[in-house]
Amino acid sequence: MNLRKAFLLFLCALPLLAVGAPRNIIVMIPDGCATATLTVAREVKGAPLALEGVVYGLVQTRSANSEVTDSAAAATAMSCGALTYNGAISVDVDRRPMLTFGEWAKAQNKAVGIVTTDIITGATPAAFSAHAENRNQTDALIEGQIGSGIDLFLGGGKELLTPERREALKARGYALPDNAQALEAVKQGPVFGLFGKNLLTPMVARRNAPCAEPTLRDMSAKALELLSQDPDGFFLMIEGAQIDKGAHVHDLAWSVHELLAFDDAVALVLDWAKAHPDTVVLIAPDHETGGLTLPRVPKERQGLRAKRIRSATQIGAYKPEALDVCYSTGDHTAVDVFLAGNTPTVRPFRNCDFPVALADRDTTYLPELTGTTVEKNGIRFLITPNGTRLRANYDAIYIPSTQKWYARQL
Ligand SMILES: [Zn+2]
Repeated sequence: MNLRKAFLLFLCALPLLAVGAPRNIIVMIPDGCATATLTVAREVKGAPLALEGVVYGLVQTRSANSEVTDSAAAATAMSCGALTYNGAISVDVDRRPMLTFGEWAKAQNKAVGIVTTDIITGATPAAFSAHAENRNQTDALIEGQIGSGIDLFLGGGKELLTPERREALKARGYALPDNAQALEAVKQGPVFGLFGKNLLTPMVARRNAPCAEPTLRDMSAKALELLSQDPDGFFLMIEGAQIDKGAHVHDLAWSVHELLAFDDAVALVLDWAKAHPDTVVLIAPDHETGGLTLPRVPKERQGLRAKRIRSATQIGAYKPEALDVCYSTGDHTAVDVFLAGNTPTVRPFRNCDFPVALADRDTTYLPELTGTTVEKNGIRFLITPNGTRLRANYDAIYIPSTQKWYARQL
């Protein structure tokens, strides 16, 4: 091979060399989880959590317009790499769509999966898979998710799937399991599994009644099984959504049992990652909810404590005598959250550092593009007015929720 040819080959290989992303990327979000919730969960379990063994840092959680973030702005920061206003789903402060981590991973030809115990259009799953100016735009979010090309959605919200949406998903080849048994039978993607009318049934409610819905661990196991079939690796987001829900209404039992279920999924994922090198697992709450503290109780008030906790009787064998459980708010707080995972060198210090820390991926704004579209061999192209041909989900991205094309990079 002559020198010129070798140099040309080297140039061709440059984009490949520049890709610093791990093969498999797993982000796990225990929504609204306070450090104090970990303390109680450990006492209830009577042993350390899998999560505790891999904690190594702290993450700042603020949004662009508040020290106290909401779940939408927080997940947008973790997915897109920029702070935005509370309520925003993967749009910036000027309401321009930003590249989600799901879209970025699809552009790398990776399989992508979204798993949650929330409704699938909840702020956290939505910010990794869709765009909207406001988290309450449920129709825009589900339509965006249906057209996203993402390989796996597992969560709550059966009623989102109208007959038209079911047909649209079937036409795209999706399996549509609606209970644990049907999910177990799915042996290849894509899959869009919704269980429960809205949220999945809380773990506390499953203790006394049989439940046909999968657990977070069940869904995570199926996601790993299906997504790992992709030769280019995968990106998977797993959310334990109801730790937050319990904290909002000061129901410690709800939060703690959801955290224990999340921890079961963490143990499974960490084991899987051990057996599959080049898998980065990063775990961090999006914010803390409730302002939970566990102060010592004066002697005369001991025994009264339990009355102040909703469904305290369901919390398990843990009956602290000398501790009080105090929530300081029914909302979120501004405190930092813990950072955990299997790669301590991956250290995002702010929520918006996640994309760079995980995949050396900078914030990408998406300027709007115009042109006509053509489809060839199943790949969609945009022909811009100057004749440039841009490949869908690579050079350009089509976002179903806005029905527009965007350039991937400025
Ligand atoms: Zn949240």
